Amino acid sequence: MAAASRTLAALARRPQALAPALRNARGHAVAVDPHPAAPVRTATEGAVRSDWTRDEVQKIFDAPLMETIYRAASVHRLNHDPSRIQLCTLMNIKTGGCTEDCKYCSQSSSYSTPTKASRLVDIEPVLKAAREAKANGSTRFCMGAAWRDLAGRKSGFEKILTMVKEVRAMDMEVCTTLGMLSPDQARRLKEAGLSAYNHNLDTSREFYPEVITTRTYDERLTTIQAVREAGISVCSGGILGLGEKDEDRVGLIWEVSQMDEHPESFPVNTLVPIPGTPLEGNDPVSHQTVLRTIATARIVLPKTIIRLAAGRHTFNEAEQALAFMAGANAIFTGENMLTTPCSPWDEDKAMLGRWGLRGMRSFEDGESTDVPSQQPGKQPEATA
Ligand code: SF4
Repeated sequence: MAAASRTLAALARRPQALAPALRNARGHAVAVDPHPAAPVRTATEGAVRSDWTRDEVQKIFDAPLMETIYRAASVHRLNHDPSRIQLCTLMNIKTGGCTEDCKYCSQSSSYSTPTKASRLVDIEPVLKAAREAKANGSTRFCMGAAWRDLAGRKSGFEKILTMVKEVRAMDMEVCTTLGMLSPDQARRLKEAGLSAYNHNLDTSREFYPEVITTRTYDERLTTIQAVREAGISVCSGGILGLGEKDEDRVGLIWEVSQMDEHPESFPVNTLVPIPGTPLEGNDPVSHQTVLRTIATARIVLPKTIIRLAAGRHTFNEAEQALAFMAGANAIFTGENMLTTPCSPWDEDKAMLGRWGLRGMRSFEDGESTDVPSQQPGKQPEATA
């Protein structure tokens, strides 16, 4: 016992003796490191910059995690109301049969998965789903179609334009994800009232060819450019757990940081492995990696909404709360994501209420959509 005490006392005097053993496998500095990477703070902390170097972003990502989260939370408070979380509901309006070969996707026709292809849904079920989402506190309604692009889909596109127009008339933000867009298609979506268009870069430029071969990184950037030029908000982020390394997570954030205007929304998805896809056996990404990615994105993209997207249902309540502390300020809520589970509205309302969080106002209508989850002063019981 006395010997153990002497050893601990000696280590306390020489903490550097502990450091090598306490560095984790990815080489991130840990809390007891006597010389943690100094946070790189600048006079422009919290301001939008398009001149981040990749090395700067990597340093933020590699800093001690608690320091990065604290810094991200500070930047978050300079640019956002930290009590607000945007609630979005996603509907798959055309499932499966996609000609792209994204290795994570159950909707690709390249793989044999449980997802069955279906036709574009009718307008009325979409409007019904949007009304239900609004009644439950969602301020953004997103519609996804499993297509490479809209080529040869004239009548389908007209139908979608009507959906956009009608949902927008409900005073909801409307988002779509329909594959590659031409400038003219982007313009028509804007005219119909589209608020945002989702087109993820997925990962770094270097790792991207390991995941998708039927569409190039630059084609994705071209669609994002068409969306931007049409005056539509850009929603573009990625997926963690594809087999990428930390450098690729950094590469993704760095890539969008170089845009003249940062995306208004940056979704952070975690892979939900789908049987039959090439990535069905991938190991889950750690919660700490998700937090590092969110916190780094918050610091580098200070005004962007950071969206905790697919895979959120795999995190317990405390893990989600840490993600909100790290700067995530949007979730998908409702019955389903495109093909994976989602946390239902009542659970999310109760969770947000327990942490003193509220639904974000719609960009356009400026009205509060407080989450009606609890009596004042009464804390619902945790379910996670
Ligand atoms: S992610 Fe989208 S583009 Fe890729 S295969 Fe799935 S539906 Fe098609």
